[in-house]
Amino acid sequence: MKKIAKIILGIVLGLFLLGTLPYYQTRIYDFSEPQPFSGDAFYNPYQKLGPHWVKANFHAHSILHFGLANGDNTPEEMYAVYDSMNYDLPCISNYNSILPDTYNRKLYLSAYEHGFNGGAIHQLVLNNKEPVKFYFPFWQSLHHKQTVLEQQKSTDNIIVLAHPNYKTGYSVNDLAYLSHYDMFEGISARASSINLWDVALSHGHAVWVSGNDDAHNTRFGVCGVCWNMINADSLSPESLIDNLKKGRSYATRGWIGQEMNQLVSLSVDSNVYSLVLKHASDSIILKSDGGKIVAVATQTNRISYTIPAEDSYVRAEIFDTESWNTYTKTYLNPVIRTPNGQLSKHGNTAEVNRFKTYAWRGGLLLFHLLFIGLIYYFYKKNALRRIAQKINFKIIW
Ligand SMILES: [Zn+2]
Repeated sequence: MKKIAKIILGIVLGLFLLGTLPYYQTRIYDFSEPQPFSGDAFYNPYQKLGPHWVKANFHAHSILHFGLANGDNTPEEMYAVYDSMNYDLPCISNYNSILPDTYNRKLYLSAYEHGFNGGAIHQLVLNNKEPVKFYFPFWQSLHHKQTVLEQQKSTDNIIVLAHPNYKTGYSVNDLAYLSHYDMFEGISARASSINLWDVALSHGHAVWVSGNDDAHNTRFGVCGVCWNMINADSLSPESLIDNLKKGRSYATRGWIGQEMNQLVSLSVDSNVYSLVLKHASDSIILKSDGGKIVAVATQTNRISYTIPAEDSYVRAEIFDTESWNTYTKTYLNPVIRTPNGQLSKHGNTAEVNRFKTYAWRGGLLLFHLLFIGLIYYFYKKNALRRIAQKINFKIIW
C-alpha cells in the first residue's frame, strides 16, 4: 500500500515538474506606462463601409479527443445549427487544434482556442495554419500572459482574448499593460467582460469587440446568443481579416442570431459623432473612458454627440427589446483619438528585460534543483539509511 502511494506521489510530482519546464521560456518585460488615446483627429473604423455584412461566430467546440473538454456534437451538427440561423462564418475553435477546411463551407477561417491551464487564460486565434503549442499550465503573471501573446501573434492572424472575465482570466492590471492582440471577447455565453474592455480602451489599447457563443453543444439556447457582424469589401479570407484588424465589425448579444438593427453610417466631423441606424432603436447609449455614459437617445434611429477634449474614445451600445427575445444589445467599436487619423494599436510598449529574464530563469533552475533534491531525499531515505548503517556511521535522516 505504502509502495502504491509512493508511486502515485512520484507520478504527481513528475507531472508537476514537467508542467513547470515551459516556464524557462518566461520573458520578463519592462512595460512603459500606458497612455490614453490622444490627438485632435479621430480614427473611425466605420468611416468607409463595404457592400458585405458577414455574420460570424469565432468560438464553438465540436467533439475532439474522445469528447474530453471539447464539444458534444460533430462539426456537421454544429454547422447545421448555425446554417439554420443564417450564419455566414461559423468557426469551430477547438482547444489547441484546427478543424480543416474540408466541410464544403462557403466561407472559412481557421480558428482554435489556445490555452491549457486551470485559470481559463485563453485566446482565440484566427487564420493560423498550425496551432501554437506552447503553454504555461499553472500560474501566469502579467509577464507570462505577455509572453504567450507574443509567441502567437503574427502579421496574418487575429488574436482575441477569450472570456477575459472568466475564472482568473485577465485582470484590470493585465488589461492596462498587455499588447500584441487584436480583439476582445466582450460578450459571450461564458462571461460578460465589457467593463474590462473599457479598461483596455481607457489605457490606449485599440482592441475591437467580439461576441461569441463559446458553444460546446447544439442544445437550444446555446448557439446564436452572441455573434459578430463583419463589414467587408469582398468575401475573401484576406479581406475579412483585414476588416477585422481595422475594427470594421461589431458584436451583438441577442437570440437565435437575429439581427434587430443595422449600422447605416457612422461619421466624425469637426468633433461631432453621428450615428445612423436602419431602424429606430429603444435606446442608443454612447460611452466613453471607463465606460461612463456621455449621451443617450431613445426611440430613434440616430444620435449626435460633440466629443469633448476629455473623451479619448466614444463607443455606442444599441438596445432593442422585443417580447419574443427579451433584449438585443449591439456593441459598436469606438472612434478613437489619434494625432493624425492613423491607428496606433497599443498605448504602451513591452520590452524584454534580459537581465531580469535570466535572473527569473536562474531562480527557476534553483527551485528545480531544490525540488529534485527533496524528491531524491524522500525516496532514497531508506536506501541512504541502510548505506549509513553498513558503514557503521550514524546519521539522523
Ligand atoms: Zn475558453
